[in-house]
Amino acid sequence: MPIAMPTVDDYVAGVLAGDRAMMGRAITLIESRAERHRVMAQQVLTRLLPHAGKAHRIGISGVPGVGKSTFIETFGCNLTAESLKVAVLAVDPTSSRSGGSILGDKTRMARLAADERAFIRPSPTSGHLGGVARATRETMIVCEAAGYDVVLVETVGTGQSETMVADMVDFFLVLMLPNAGDELQGIKKGILELADLIAVNKVDDEKDLKARAAKRDYENALHILTPASSNWTPQVVMMSGLNNRNLDTLWEKIRDHRRILTASGELTAKRHGQQKTWMWAMLQERLLHAFETHPQVAALIPQMEQAVQDGTLTPTVGAERLLGAFGLEALTV
Ligand code: GDP
Repeated sequence: MPIAMPTVDDYVAGVLAGDRAMMGRAITLIESRAERHRVMAQQVLTRLLPHAGKAHRIGISGVPGVGKSTFIETFGCNLTAESLKVAVLAVDPTSSRSGGSILGDKTRMARLAADERAFIRPSPTSGHLGGVARATRETMIVCEAAGYDVVLVETVGTGQSETMVADMVDFFLVLMLPNAGDELQGIKKGILELADLIAVNKVDDEKDLKARAAKRDYENALHILTPASSNWTPQVVMMSGLNNRNLDTLWEKIRDHRRILTASGELTAKRHGQQKTWMWAMLQERLLHAFETHPQVAALIPQMEQAVQDGTLTPTVGAERLLGAFGLEALTV
């Protein structure tokens, strides 16, 4: 006999009770692209929203191999040892292409995955980055409503996914390797602008001169940027995720950041801004989808693209004709 689909009430009650199986099912509902699931997911989220918002939302980024999963496992276990509930989510834009997520894979964090105070969810595989980001934001609401105190959102070091994650968290942590000399060459200025803190990872010995030089390099690089916040100056710490070195200092800094931004009102303002940005991103995505799938527009797109490519039509006229096909008042040229 197939298991009956839960009702909106079932989802809400289950999530609020912290029932992990129901959290998993609610997240699957959120990730679904079927129209009836989308409606139901939004009904569930609307009911959960008043119970969300209390968690520390922390983004974690860094190139593959920098030690993200090792760090998350150690850090997560430190937090659960303090009786905090920790959720680990991932934004991995490559997961839909490879057919399976490399991030959030429970086997990478076996100790944390076995911890009853932790909840690990791999990256959704819903096609494009916008869809992945939406699902992750909404999953964060589920986790918070279920009483999770800290939500860690992991992402790989690709510019666009980093920006998306930075736009859904309170604190953005960037993991770097101690060989800064080489790395700074290739480092994108963009990532430094997003960072609230840079952790030079794999520093198993703090007397390590190379690591200390790397710390100084990153500090200098941060120094020439205008900080995104007027209340918080991004800092650099040395740590070892593997050996649990300095992770307590890191957690202290995250709590300092929270305290300072809360007192100044910046945290609330930041979250409000993120909500607004999210709404507009959703709107753009839905409008573009409606546009591209409109029968008359879809029929005209290949012809317009060709003409614009061939240089027989200006891009502006091409765009105007497509808007006209969509039913908008367009310039007739
Ligand atoms: P990710 O790809 O960023 O998730 O990186 P992983 O956590 O999988 O780590 C990549 C490799 O670096 C693994 O072999 C880890 O054991 C190692 N590693 C991670 N953190 C540390 C650390 O703090 N010190 C040292 N020496 N090695 C580490």
